[in-house]
Amino acid sequence: IKDQLNRSERLAAVGQLVASVAHEVGTPLHSIAWHVQALSEEPSVTPDMKKRIAVIDGQLNRVVRIIQDLLSSTRQRKPDPTWLPVDRVVSPAAALLEPAYHAKGVALRVEIDSDVPMVWADAEKIHQVLVNLLTNALAATPEGGEAVIHVAARPATQDEAELGKRSAGAPPATMVTVAVRDTGCGMPAEDLRKAFTPFFTTKAVGTGTGLGLFLSRETVQAHGGHLSIESEVGKGTTVTLSLPGLAASASAVA
Ligand code: ADP
Ligand code: MG
Repeated sequence: IKDQLNRSERLAAVGQLVASVAHEVGTPLHSIAWHVQALSEEPSVTPDMKKRIAVIDGQLNRVVRIIQDLLSSTRQRKPDPTWLPVDRVVSPAAALLEPAYHAKGVALRVEIDSDVPMVWADAEKIHQVLVNLLTNALAATPEGGEAVIHVAARPATQDEAELGKRSAGAPPATMVTVAVRDTGCGMPAEDLRKAFTPFFTTKAVGTGTGLGLFLSRETVQAHGGHLSIESEVGKGTTVTLSLPGLAASASAVA
């Protein structure tokens, strides 16, 4: 069962990736198509060039169709949150990454405050977000360092209550925060500004896609929550996701 879960999560991640790539490739393709069209209407175009332009146009149409197919076949299901005990979301992600942390000699700890209410979450989607964040933290942290997942609750601000209401139906009185804090390399201010930009990565070609933080933020926002980063070069990075929490009094009823 666990392998099946991991597999479906991996497939969901790949699907998200493909959808993002397909989406991103659409814009330059349209630009190319437009310019090819303009070129074919140039008065100086010879019949020979016209034939070549027709070939380019035909192949271009093929690529556009492939991209459209990819987009429709991988169209992601929307998050479908319910009220969950926060541990149901945090523990499996930590357990999944634990062997990789151990292998690199980086400690991984989970700290859950005692008064944390149920959280508004699609377990599979938030699991994927945590896997993204823990993977980033591990990549940034040298041997001997550590990462801590700290779960806490705090009152919701007015803005958060408003956003949470749209997703959860009723305005949340509390926000549950899940902070992934590492003692890794940290991020220079310039990288920090670009962190959520799709395809921004400082990792070697083939190892990073630059989609992890972008997709993670999309997912958290779809829950009525938000994702933020704090980082200091040489000290470490903290990525915090905030999700609507069930108020203590209401959780007694539920
Ligand atoms: P990827 O991991 O594929 O590069 P992400 O969107 O997950 O894409 O992250 C984008 C970039 O943000 C990374 O390449 C890295 O430079 C930086 N980053 C993300 N998380 C951390 C972290 N915990 N510590 C240091 N840098 C980070
Ligand atoms: Mg990443």
